[in-house]
Amino acid sequence: MKWIALTGGIGSGKTAVATFFMELGIPVIDSDSVAHELTTHHGAAIPLIRQTFGDEVIDFISGSLKRDVMRYLITSNPDKKQQLESILHPLIFSQMQGKMAEYQGVYGLLAIPLLVEVPIFQTLVHRVLLVDCPENQQVQRIMSRSRLSQDEALAMIRLQATRQERKELADDIIDNSGSLKDTQAQVQRLHQCYLAL
Ligand code: ATP
Repeated sequence: MKWIALTGGIGSGKTAVATFFMELGIPVIDSDSVAHELTTHHGAAIPLIRQTFGDEVIDFISGSLKRDVMRYLITSNPDKKQQLESILHPLIFSQMQGKMAEYQGVYGLLAIPLLVEVPIFQTLVHRVLLVDCPENQQVQRIMSRSRLSQDEALAMIRLQATRQERKELADDIIDNSGSLKDTQAQVQRLHQCYLAL
């Protein structure tokens, strides 16, 4: 089975594209969902996170990560961000490998937003599919979805790899600057190519 990374900047349309592939019966394993599972009640990352950051980042009642507290900690301290990533990334990697082994078929997608930033994940895939749109559209879509200001949306974009860096890594690109119908047509064309890989 061939695995293809689905990546793209924040608000570029990864979820929309993943949904179109799923409608064609293609499995999608999402690294963000895996990270969420790892940090929820009884998640495999919880003991190490507790040991590293203390009880105050764990919800006493549910036993899951206090996401707001952790978000505050890592945005105000790059060392803590790195510590958290060094706990989570190897666990996400091995969990994804485990999930990949459960599937059979011609191909599947691994949705990995931070594929450029965390190169180890590139070793899991045969090809890279980038969802791309101009930055001003990313900003508009982030703003309309989350009520962030333009400056906040731009700040989030600046924290990620550049559009050019992502393009350099990509084997295939979906241009999501048009309508969702356009994007769906591109997914259908790529699906035929991927079936023939
Ligand atoms: P994130 O990185 O935050 O997970 P994402 O890359 O998964 O975002 P989506 O959630 O698919 O992006 O899209 C962001 C927003 O833009 C959503 O509200 C979605 O409905 C909208 N959107 C995506 N593609 C299009 C499009 N081609 N036309 C209009 N709206 C779109």
